[in-house]
Amino acid sequence: MATPARSLSPQLNTVFDLLVQNYGLPLWRRHGDPTEQLVKTILSQHTSDTNSDRAFRSLQAAFPHWQAVIEAPTPAVVTAIRSGGLANQKAPRIQQALRQIWQQNGSFDLSYLATWPVAEARTWLMQLPGVGAKTASIVLLFSLQRPAFAVDTHVHRLSRRLGLAPAPATPTRVMHTIEQVAPADWLYPLHLNLIRHGRAVCKARRPHCHTCFLRCHCPSYPIDDYDPSTHPSHS
Ligand code: SF4
Repeated sequence: MATPARSLSPQLNTVFDLLVQNYGLPLWRRHGDPTEQLVKTILSQHTSDTNSDRAFRSLQAAFPHWQAVIEAPTPAVVTAIRSGGLANQKAPRIQQALRQIWQQNGSFDLSYLATWPVAEARTWLMQLPGVGAKTASIVLLFSLQRPAFAVDTHVHRLSRRLGLAPAPATPTRVMHTIEQVAPADWLYPLHLNLIRHGRAVCKARRPHCHTCFLRCHCPSYPIDDYDPSTHPSHS
């Protein structure tokens, strides 16, 4: 395990270690090239992984390359990604984002962003339609192995419940808070393990607090809407 380069909060250290003990240490692997990851992430907004994966495969089957997506009538792109939900909004965003990438770079290759400071690369990505801080951070972290912390709904909820960020913190504040204190090589495993814990244990409603391995270190324990009838008590 890497030694933290900066002042690491004891709480983050404890949470990170317990997550790794229970879920393992996910090793970084490249999740497609940055433009592909960008389109996948736009498709994943407000839908399940299953639906967005299906929509991405359908988009690839309908159009052989990104230029064909730009040149296609928008209704054809809507049809191709319909299984991903919100297709009428996502199709023009994807086309416009690809168009801007092409116009500004003369190619669809965004790998040069790996050499930029994270804040500048994120700002560049966020000028594209449909790209907020979360989507930009996912591209930087998952495709370019840059130290960007992606804050989705699970990461946002757990970071605040666990005291890794202040309770009223916005997703953007959580992102900056974690990026300031966590070692760069923790951001990928921390993101994935928080999501895993959020899906399995620390759910939005009725989190399984009394069987949670983090409960002794969790300032929110126990959450009020815990339902003892569905989860046996645990000392
Ligand atoms: S104790 Fe409850 S609120 Fe805290 S991390 Fe576990 S499930 Fe979430």
